[in-house]
Amino acid sequence: MTENRISLACLPTPIQDLPKLGRALFIPQLFIKRDDLTGLGPGGNKTRKLEYLCADALKQGAKRLFSCGAIQSNHCRQVAAAANRLGLACTLILAGEAPAKEQGNLLLDRLSGAQILFCPKEERDACLEEAFNKALAEGQKPYLIPYGGSNAIGALAYREALREIMAQDAPFDWIVFASSSGGTQAGLVLGAREFNFRGRILGISIELPAEQLATRVSALANEAAALLGQQGGFCAEDVLVNDDFCHAGYGVLTAQDAQAVRLFSRMEGILLDPVYTGRAAGALIALTTQKYFRKNERILFLHTGGIPALFAEPYCRQLNIP
Ligand SMILES: *Cc1c(COP(=O)(O)O)cnc(C)c1O
Repeated sequence: MTENRISLACLPTPIQDLPKLGRALFIPQLFIKRDDLTGLGPGGNKTRKLEYLCADALKQGAKRLFSCGAIQSNHCRQVAAAANRLGLACTLILAGEAPAKEQGNLLLDRLSGAQILFCPKEERDACLEEAFNKALAEGQKPYLIPYGGSNAIGALAYREALREIMAQDAPFDWIVFASSSGGTQAGLVLGAREFNFRGRILGISIELPAEQLATRVSALANEAAALLGQQGGFCAEDVLVNDDFCHAGYGVLTAQDAQAVRLFSRMEGILLDPVYTGRAAGALIALTTQKYFRKNERILFLHTGGIPALFAEPYCRQLNIP
């Protein structure tokens, strides 16, 4: 298959070392891949996926992008920005009550001019279907971008990101990152097999039990492999997920999440987000303390973005502690 992709992101994103944090954590070789700098608005991992998903949308003659997510969805914010770059209309279905103050990602959604529909969490998929079918009937040529941009097409982006990482730096023993709808991890896992990456790919689950997430990731990796005409054959056992750090629930800031956000800011001047990267970094710190990693292993923390949520309630209030 010839690769079907448009350019939306500033690539390659840099890999930097984290010397002070590495010393504090006794990880002499700690690095960060800055996918918070993908550059479509305040960046994030969805921008890579949208390079592939929007290429498909344009190929199908779409005129309006549809997607859904949480009120502070980084994904939806990046979909709205991509739509503007490409001259497409955009509808976002956000699950939850419209907040009194529109902050963080939601503020940026508003700024983008996207149509925003709020609906109760349980009714999200029904709302989406109804709005999508209405747009379809009206001839608006809608294109549905799945939750988190995580389908086989979106996953191809992180297969390519794995290739990018391997071309950029000496081999890493670990890639550690926040895993939620699974597309990022599926792409990395697929790329690791194809490009012979020798390290481990450790997804820190943000909300799902490990087995459930690993099953989803392996299914996505198989579907993405099929798109490339490759053998699938991935099963849940091929996917490494840690779910020790998600018990508080999605979007609930724990003391450990908050400590990680503060530590990265204070030691390295790097902003994490309260929902995803703060949790994944908190896990990295805790696992280091538990001596999960071996001495002198090279660890790459993949920063997947999400910074605007820092400026939204309740996170901005919860993080504002000495
Ligand atoms: C969506 C998101 C993730 C998770 O990526 P998936 O591909 O959905 O697993 C991680 N970090 C941030 C900041 C995100 O917005």
